[in-house]
Amino acid sequence: MSPPGKSHVADDVFNPKQPTGKPSPSKVPLPLPLAAMENDDDQILSLSLRPKRFEEFVGQTQIVENLRVAIQAAKRRGEALEHLLLAGPPGLGKTSIAHLVTHEMGAKITATSGPAITRAGDLIGILTNLEEGDVLFIDETHRLSKVVEEFLYPAMENFEIDFIIDKGPYAKTIKFHLKRFTLIGATTRAGLISNPLRSRFGMVYHLEFYKPQELVEVITRSAKILGITLEAEAAQTIAERARGTPRIANRLLRRVRDYAQVKANGKITKDVAQAALSAQGVDGFGLDALDRRVLKTIMEFYGGGPVGIEALAAALNEERDTIVDVVEPYLLSVGLLKRTARGRKVSRLAYQHFATLKDQRLELFAASNES
Ligand code: ADP
Repeated sequence: MSPPGKSHVADDVFNPKQPTGKPSPSKVPLPLPLAAMENDDDQILSLSLRPKRFEEFVGQTQIVENLRVAIQAAKRRGEALEHLLLAGPPGLGKTSIAHLVTHEMGAKITATSGPAITRAGDLIGILTNLEEGDVLFIDETHRLSKVVEEFLYPAMENFEIDFIIDKGPYAKTIKFHLKRFTLIGATTRAGLISNPLRSRFGMVYHLEFYKPQELVEVITRSAKILGITLEAEAAQTIAERARGTPRIANRLLRRVRDYAQVKANGKITKDVAQAALSAQGVDGFGLDALDRRVLKTIMEFYGGGPVGIEALAAALNEERDTIVDVVEPYLLSVGLLKRTARGRKVSRLAYQHFATLKDQRLELFAASNES
């Protein structure tokens, strides 16, 4: 492993004669678990719902305020914005913020993701094409390989990169000066970002789950854009069941609209919203089938816990990362799950929630019995 700031190692040599396998930034797949739950239409709609200006971005007020100050100051000094790391569960607005910042800076954005950059050479073309003040957005920053990460250090710090041409006796190091750009990293796992990388970001912000009232605003705005009329109480119902996440709020809104069109003459009342969400397997806490499977497995197979994450993932036949990135953060935030030194435990509140579901004999409880 080469020390930070040094040229990257020879097995990752950049050879201009060889195709680099450079990913086309616009075609980089984003293998986020939640993104996978959206079909193509959903993803196109998601793009149209993305806030275009900071005024349209709901919530996260402290972060937005800090960013606006930083942007204004950078613009006055005529400098690029400092590198920015955004952390938080999927769907909370990290990509949206990256686009908003770029827009406010009057810059261009190039988007890629950690797993898409397999070799340091993949980054050379991207970095050398950036203009002064441009933004390089790297989603899933925690999944950058060590070699690529170390290659990024001098680019972030001194806006220069070293790369080695050829191997053996003909090896030559070439230094490349870059324009001053802004790296915006997004991660669902801040804990997995190494200290040397984290320390090179001038700003690090953790996005929080949204309050139902904020999600009502998101839903009302999206409904307007999509031409959907819904009663205020229906927006409230969807907001309460959206796991504190704007992307889920927008997705549920679309599912409720479909249901209303087919079963209720298009009219979205509170009752219609409730029925549509139950039909989707979403309960009063906003939990979906996978959330309930996680809780029920801990209750039924592990006596309520504690259980280690690997054992839990194996019992569920699910990816460990899906549980850690997508399921757990919300269950922890609403107090249904606890994390202890010996593993995950369900709370008394979780038992109460399941008892209520059983009492109500909700249609969705049957749906959650799939495990
Ligand atoms: P992330 O990058 O954190 O996974 P995104 O920025 O892709 O999340 O957000 C997903 C969708 O949720 C966006 O397309 C946008 O429609 C919506 N969204 C996210 N945050 C907000 C917000 N604060 N206000 C309004 N809509 C939002």
